[in-house]
Amino acid sequence: MINVTEITGKLSPNQKINYDRVLQKLIADWEKRAIRPTILLHSCCAPCSTYTLEYLTKYADVTIYFANSNIHPRAEYLRREIVQKQFVEMFNERTNNDVHFLSAPYEPNDFMQMVKVNNLSEEPEGGKRCSACFHMRLDIVAEKAQELGYDYFGSALTLSPKKNSQLINEIGIDIQKFYATNYLPSDFKKNNGYKRSIELCKEYDVYRQCYCGCLFAATKQGVDLKMVNKEARKYLKDQME
Ligand code: SF4
Ligand code: SF4
Repeated sequence: MINVTEITGKLSPNQKINYDRVLQKLIADWEKRAIRPTILLHSCCAPCSTYTLEYLTKYADVTIYFANSNIHPRAEYLRREIVQKQFVEMFNERTNNDVHFLSAPYEPNDFMQMVKVNNLSEEPEGGKRCSACFHMRLDIVAEKAQELGYDYFGSALTLSPKKNSQLINEIGIDIQKFYATNYLPSDFKKNNGYKRSIELCKEYDVYRQCYCGCLFAATKQGVDLKMVNKEARKYLKDQME
C-alpha cells in the first residue's frame, strides 16, 4: 500500500505541503492498481465527517472511529457519539454505502492527566495542548487500525478551518513510524470541503456543537457548561424514550 512519505519525501523540505494534493496522488495510485483500501478515520463529532465521508467513500472502505476522551462533560461526549453514529447510519441509507462505526472507551482521566503532567491547562486553543490532544487521539486510532488490520488511519479533523492541518498531518506521519499501518494525509477543507460540510449538516440536520471539546477551551471561550450538560442530558433522555 502506498505510503505518504513516498510522495512527501520527493518534495523540497522548505515547501509548504498541500496534503490534499498528496491524498489525490495516493488515490490515483489506488485507482491505477484497482484497489479499494480500508481506512480507520477518526472523527470527534458528525460535522467534520460529513464531507469527509462523501469524499473518501468514492475510493475506499471507511470506518469512523470515535476516540475522543478530551470531550467534557460525559453527557456531551455521549451526545456527540450518538449523533455521529446516527449520521453514519443516515449516510449509508441515503448513499447506499457501508461505512462502519466504532468507538473507543471514554477515558477522560487519561486526557486530564496528560494535560496536568505537561502543564497545558492554560494553553490557548490551537497551542501546545491541542498538539498533544491531536497526538493522543491519532495514536489511539493508529493502534486500533493496526490491531484490526486497516490499510490506513487518519482524521476528519483537517476539515475544520480552526484546526492546523499541517500540524495534524505532521503528527500523523510521525505516529505511523510506530505502527504497521499507514497515515492517510488529508486537508479536507480544500475544494470547498468545509462549505460542503455545512450544506450536508443542513441536509442531514446534524447537531453542531459550540466548542471544540475540552473543559479548558470551553471555559476560556465562556461556554456555559452547566447548560451544555443540561441540554445533553435531555437529549440522551429523549433518545431513550
Ligand atoms: S473539529 Fe470540531 S466540528 Fe470537527 S469533528 Fe471535531 S469537534 Fe466536530
Ligand atoms: S481545544 Fe480541542 S483540540 Fe484543543 S485540547 Fe481542547 S479538545 Fe483538544
